[in-house]
Parts: sequence; structure tokens; C-alpha cells
Amino acid sequence: MSRTILHVDMNNCYASIECLYRPEIRNSPVALGSDPEARHGIVLAQNYIAKGMGVKTGAVLWQAKQKCPGLVIVPPDFKKYLIFSRMAREIYSDYTNQIEAFGIDENWLDVTGAEHIFGDGEKIADTIRQRVKSELGVTVSVGVS
Ligand SMILES: [Mg+2]
Repeated sequence: MSRTILHVDMNNCYASIECLYRPEIRNSPVALGSDPEARHGIVLAQNYIAKGMGVKTGAVLWQAKQKCPGLVIVPPDFKKYLIFSRMAREIYSDYTNQIEAFGIDENWLDVTGAEHIFGDGEKIADTIRQRVKSELGVTVSVGVS
């Protein structure tokens, strides 16, 4: 019997969550920097705008700033990301108890048993996308297989 598996991935997880808490930086290029005070801290994550301006994960902060002068660097707050990770999983658990986490922002969901209640994989993927957006304020990409 074939199974329906969803792969759910929060988009730009860390940077998106930071932008949610600081609407004033939402339209700026944003990078999470380890040790923002130190010249040699590195980029841990970035939002779409920063990505579009060539800011790469792992880049040295001063070099990233050179490439992208308006770059806003914020320190990471992993406690916050864990809370979002947990809240997202709580949404997923409405559709299955077979959830396998991969890191903080990726999950594999086996929704085979839920299809007769919530619709096929595509439908459940749509529902999850919408719920995460409206309940948590961040976006997820969902792949169905
Ligand atoms: Mg992600």
C-alpha cells in the first residue's frame, strides 16, 4: 500500500521569525550573525532580501556588510526558534502522529491515515501551509510524495 508523505520546511526559518518580532526590519536585508559585535562573526542565516543581495550563510560578517551595506545583523535566539518549531509541530500533529523531525524547521509527516478525513496529500499540504501562515505568521514549503 502506498503512503502519503509530506515534507514540511519552514522558509528562512530564523530570519523570518526575527522579522516577525521586529516589523521595522522586515523590508531590509537581515542576517543572523554569531557574535555581531565581533568583526569575524559569521552569517548563520538570512532573509530573502539579503540572499538576493548575495549574502551567504557562513560568510564573515564584515564581508557580508561590504557586499550588502544596509545589512541588519541580529543575534540568534534559539529558544524562540524552538518555540516556533514546537508550535508548528503541534499543527502537524492534527494530521498525524507520525512526525519525524529533521533539524529545527524540517519535518516529515506520514499523513496516509488522515486522508479519508482531511482530503488527499495535496489538500492537507494546502491546509498546513495556510494554518502555519495564519497561526504562526511564517511560511512553510510543503512537498507531497
Ligand atoms: Mg528551512
